[in-house]
Amino acid sequence: MTNKIHTCRFCDSGLKRIFIDLGISPLANSYLKPEDLQQMEPHYPLCVYVCEDCYLVQLPVYQTPEEIFGDYAYFSSYSESWLQHAKAYTELMVSRFRYGPNSRVIEIASNDGYLLQYFKKKSIPVLGIEPAKNVARAANEAGILTVVKFFGTRTAMGLAAEGKNADLLIGNNVLAHVPGLNDFVEGMKIILKRDGVITMEFPHLMRLVAENQFDTMYHEHFSYFSFTTVEKVFASHGLTLFDVEELPTHGGSLRIYARHNEDDSKPVGKRVSELKDREIAAGYTSLESYLSFGERVKETKRNILDFLIKAKRERKLIAAYGAPAKGNTLLNYCGIRTDFIEYTVDRSPHKQGQYLPGTHIPIYHPDKIKETKPNYVVILPWNLKEEIMGQMAHIREWGGEFVVFIPEVKVL
Ligand SMILES: [Zn+2]
Repeated sequence: MTNKIHTCRFCDSGLKRIFIDLGISPLANSYLKPEDLQQMEPHYPLCVYVCEDCYLVQLPVYQTPEEIFGDYAYFSSYSESWLQHAKAYTELMVSRFRYGPNSRVIEIASNDGYLLQYFKKKSIPVLGIEPAKNVARAANEAGILTVVKFFGTRTAMGLAAEGKNADLLIGNNVLAHVPGLNDFVEGMKIILKRDGVITMEFPHLMRLVAENQFDTMYHEHFSYFSFTTVEKVFASHGLTLFDVEELPTHGGSLRIYARHNEDDSKPVGKRVSELKDREIAAGYTSLESYLSFGERVKETKRNILDFLIKAKRERKLIAAYGAPAKGNTLLNYCGIRTDFIEYTVDRSPHKQGQYLPGTHIPIYHPDKIKETKPNYVVILPWNLKEEIMGQMAHIREWGGEFVVFIPEVKVL
């Protein structure tokens, strides 16, 4: 059946092929207060398509970034390891490209300045672009010059007219959230100096599929990139990807390096062709391999439900740890509510006392686990499982066990 409603946000072809259909879900970050529980809750299709022409994996936009991020965003509480990541990145860039007091570093979606602060400490001029007003205000108060804007060609032309062009233009974990992909990349081209460098980090589709991370797909993530596809997107705006690194962050990310096509001072490195070869070998340039992922995900759902049904028949008490967006995708897709998982816990005081969207599983302080002694603790943020198992090791005292569902159901 053809679907003429949606078109590819890169090449404008009609989207007909389903990559994975996760049913109907509320927005993954719309946690509920007790008084919300009696109200209607908006749900949207969570059906991810793959474009037959350019292989961009994508979700149609149901809620715009203005609605999701506009007025207010939670401050991302950057962990120590994430700050270390930012600091190491700064050192790497400064030693490789020799930035100094005459350079300008611009970051798109700069949050509270957690990354730009390291460039500023080296006396390198910085500029943040951040759409959430309250977060941008905090950055400015901390001395990181930040403008409150969504990024695209309009913002870029405004900055270029003021002479604010970038020697280094950074966008971390923003490309997936951009509904107007072409306008965004064209905007980057506009403010990039002639010999400037763009670096961007985003989750790598190949790792998402290899490790069955379907739960990282939710409405706020509009696009999922292979290197091959992102290279096509940049090429269509006159930008060459000259290097790429594979990072462990967010379950496996890419850091791409781009420059103007005309800038031949930076030859295309070997890591680019090596990664492309691996993607071709893994099937990322043929439609068939994209179409097989859905079946694997359905089987994972059956295995998760098998585990939970068996545990409940044995009268086990099951709790969860964490309330991340990805947990909400998984729980809603599998139809797991308090009939299986009694409650979850989270260290963030913002979330305690609230309920998970869709499933209405209550969120408590982590001490609840000590009080109720569950047989199983399901770790929803599987990417942090080592850290959480360390913090919660005391569940072993009453014979409690940890469980992860991704990539497969596993009792640890
Ligand atoms: Zn396309």
